[in-house]
Amino acid sequence: MDLGDTPEEAAFREKARRWLAENRPEGIVDRGFSLPTDKRSLELLRAWQRRLWEAGYLGINWPAEYGGQGKTIIEAAILDDEMARVSAPGPLNLLGLSMAGPTIIEHGTEEQKKRYLSNILSCDEIWCQGFSESDCGSDVAALKTRAELKGDEFIINGSKVWTSLAHVADWCMLLVRTDPNAPKHRGISYLLVDMKTPGITVRPLKQMTGESEFNEMFFEDVRVPRGNLLGPLNHGWEVALTTLMNERATFAISNVTRFRNTFDQLAALARKLKRGGKPLSSDSSVRQQLAQFYIDVESMKYLAYRNFSSLMRGGTPGPEGSISKLLWSELNQRMQEFALSLQGPSAVLEEGSKHAVEGGRWQYGLLRSRGNTIEEGTSEIQRNIIAERLLGLPKAR
Ligand SMILES: Cc1cc2nc3c(=O)[nH]c(=O)nc-3n(C[C@H](O)[C@H](O)[C@H](O)COP(=O)(O)OP(=O)(O)OC[C@H]3O[C@@H](n4cnc5c(N)ncnc54)[C@H](O)[C@@H]3O)c2cc1C
Repeated sequence: MDLGDTPEEAAFREKARRWLAENRPEGIVDRGFSLPTDKRSLELLRAWQRRLWEAGYLGINWPAEYGGQGKTIIEAAILDDEMARVSAPGPLNLLGLSMAGPTIIEHGTEEQKKRYLSNILSCDEIWCQGFSESDCGSDVAALKTRAELKGDEFIINGSKVWTSLAHVADWCMLLVRTDPNAPKHRGISYLLVDMKTPGITVRPLKQMTGESEFNEMFFEDVRVPRGNLLGPLNHGWEVALTTLMNERATFAISNVTRFRNTFDQLAALARKLKRGGKPLSSDSSVRQQLAQFYIDVESMKYLAYRNFSSLMRGGTPGPEGSISKLLWSELNQRMQEFALSLQGPSAVLEEGSKHAVEGGRWQYGLLRSRGNTIEEGTSEIQRNIIAERLLGLPKAR
């Protein structure tokens, strides 16, 4: 595989790099993999997404007739990579762009594509993902939220939990049970739900970082038009798989650049902090660990290229996204833990404390990284997918 850019790709990269140098917004702190929670960041990121879209840097590989740029996933990956290189903040409507959009493109009717896609790109409508419930996160197919079809409407009753951005979302990708008598993977339908519909209550949940990125959602006799069904009735599981595969495949290449940045910051921290008058980077165990992180990031890079080339051949992301997800989420935790181990006793200081090293950003990073191995499917679930679907091992009981 040729890993270099073609002359056209190099020209696109150069143009994007120049545009980002002039337009990258100031005043937004890069908080790694977390979603914005304060009002100011939400508004700044909404404006930032709009600017990206107006400049032609969003929906790069989405069809032009629905507001996209009609280019390929290569240009999309180049742009993500350039954004990561300068630590530019991601667009606000992350779940709309990485999950709802690709799922609607694959399963939506013409009317649905026209109705939703350009509003996702422009950030006029923010999306959330209502899959998990209190008794079923890993085993999503066991979901209980019920939707009864009565005439031309679904009537929804039930609840969802851990729904990121539900408190600011306009629309929700909602999985509901429409046939309670069918086996659990059948009898599920995929609805597009307007979050302003009467009967929906959203309650923010506080995370260990002190922030509230996600919520509980309650549905009481919520009426949704039949036209908001995505894909066939009772075949929502197949549609949901498109969402989940896109969730895991997105940003594989730009993640490598982000982790390369984190690695550079860790190496700089080891050079800066001293013990016994010597920089920690002169300690052999610190050097060993840094070398291991370098190797991990390089492995991530080649894995991302391999997945990307199969994506270019096959069109849709497959189960191999689970390897990348497992690798980056666990590597992020190890890197954050290592940063704290370098800090000695001051590792116990909170983010924002006067004497915290680098403002306590690594403390925040460690707390937030715990969620990485749970969201988008836990590490155990990713290992089951790798074992069953990639290695062909027998199913876990
Ligand atoms: C920051 C964050 C954001 C999230 N955002 C969203 C969102 O926007 N929308 C949404 O729908 N959900 C969201 N989630 C929920 C997330 O998808 C679930 O938390 C996750 O799927 C795990 O489900 P659970 O919490 O019910 O844990 P459980 O499924 O109860 O798992 C508990 C433990 O058992 C293990 N386990 C379960 N089944 C197996 C098995 N078969 N084999 C081996 N081990 C197993 C798990 O690995 C885990 O360690 C988010 C979660 C987090 C942390």
